[in-house]
Amino acid sequence: MPLELVTIPCRSDNYAFLVHEAASGETALVDAPEAGPILAELERRGWTLSSVLLTHHHLDHVEGLGRLLDAHSARVVGAKADAHRLPPLDQAVVEGDTVSVGGEEGRVLDVSGHTVGHIAFHFPDSGLAFTGDSLMALGCGRIFEGTPEMMWNSLGKLAALPGDTRICSGHEYTTKNANFAAIIEPDNAELKARRARIDEARAEGRPTVPSKLAEELATNPMLRAHLPDVKEAVRMAGASDVEVFAEIRHRRDGY
Ligand code: ZN
Ligand code: FE
Repeated sequence: MPLELVTIPCRSDNYAFLVHEAASGETALVDAPEAGPILAELERRGWTLSSVLLTHHHLDHVEGLGRLLDAHSARVVGAKADAHRLPPLDQAVVEGDTVSVGGEEGRVLDVSGHTVGHIAFHFPDSGLAFTGDSLMALGCGRIFEGTPEMMWNSLGKLAALPGDTRICSGHEYTTKNANFAAIIEPDNAELKARRARIDEARAEGRPTVPSKLAEELATNPMLRAHLPDVKEAVRMAGASDVEVFAEIRHRRDGY
């Protein structure tokens, strides 16, 4: 059966996700920002964790794990490259490896850039991609450990997924990302329409995550550095795609 997705707001602006397969009863958690809201959601639904999938080692993605494992005997999956700084892993994965939730396979992608060793999980049958702090709604994670080239390459892997893929990213940064995107591309009509939808959602307290990959491709400046119009907009018509991406990411750092 298709995976059921539940988005759980945590901390001030993090998201954790539950994916549940009804026939088997298996439930996976993606990232563990804090235990309280996740335990409450599991209890409300009567679900038991079978696995926890970690995108990267930052505290705001792993801090709740200990308390969750006190209550649920779940298998912990994370990047082999980051095994030394993640909580103890039951399955250490590299790009191309698969994880299973109720028989549905998720494929591991290396999406380094925010950190080196950051991974994403793509479940093609259910059209879900868990991207952590790599590709986000209208943005991408800050480049703390990798290089712009590494992040651009990682974003390219995600951009190549089917357009109707739901991008389940780690933070509610969308309003600020949208305001920044509008400075880069003030005339992008799809971006204008999306900003209106975002403002409405936030005014009603609804998450803007997950988003559809197709709308990211049309509006997210971090995925659009290769486009002639975007290069022109940042006055870098002759520059390479990576140079333009690096400039846009750099401007966002100071925004
Ligand atoms: Zn992070
Ligand atoms: Fe984060």
